[in-house]
Amino acid sequence: SDVGSQKERVVTEEEWLQKWEMGNIGFHKEEGHPLLRKYLDVLLNGRSGLRIFFPLCGKAVEMKWLADMGHSVVGVEVSEQAVKEFFSEHSLPYCEEPVSEISGAKMFQSTSGNISLYCCSIYDLSSLIVGKFDGVWDRGALVAVNPCDRQRYASLMINLVEKNSSYLLVTVSYDPNKHKGPPFYVPESEVKSLFG
Ligand code: SAH
Repeated sequence: SDVGSQKERVVTEEEWLQKWEMGNIGFHKEEGHPLLRKYLDVLLNGRSGLRIFFPLCGKAVEMKWLADMGHSVVGVEVSEQAVKEFFSEHSLPYCEEPVSEISGAKMFQSTSGNISLYCCSIYDLSSLIVGKFDGVWDRGALVAVNPCDRQRYASLMINLVEKNSSYLLVTVSYDPNKHKGPPFYVPESEVKSLFG
């Protein structure tokens, strides 16, 4: 179980910024995630014009997919480099503005208005600032959260979703004694106790 070696491990924001600077971003998938294609119907459930949240978004190309389908996408990412690379790699013009409620935070928004990426820590957000969401794509997010912050992360996510929302979560199954993470090992029992 992950009660052993991983429980005390912490990856700092500084370390994440360094990963981006060094191009050490093996987690980024240029071609997008096959599980989102597979479970897209579960996420959308026949609905259109949804607000979809991407926690710890990196420069996930799935944000472009969903925006192109007519949904409104909101992401949060601590690395400004990642956010800027997202817009430039998709040739999307954007504007940036400070977020008055969060000191030091910026919001980058596509000129078309349907993709808004907050550059700050996810723990700075609340539904008062970003509203509530109809859907969540959580890939490389819960599994990247430091084990000591999982409860806080889950409570925040529960606060950010509407009653009739769909939450797609990708976890990684492996032997936590052989790899220190991230991605951290989040067994199904823990997902159940975090989200009920
Ligand atoms: N979900 C993305 C990225 C996964 S890697 C994908 O599927 O490709 C995790 C990302 O979370 C990194 O880009 C890292 O910079 C960012 N991150 C780490 N801690 C964060 C925090 N507290 N708030 C916001 N972003 C964070």
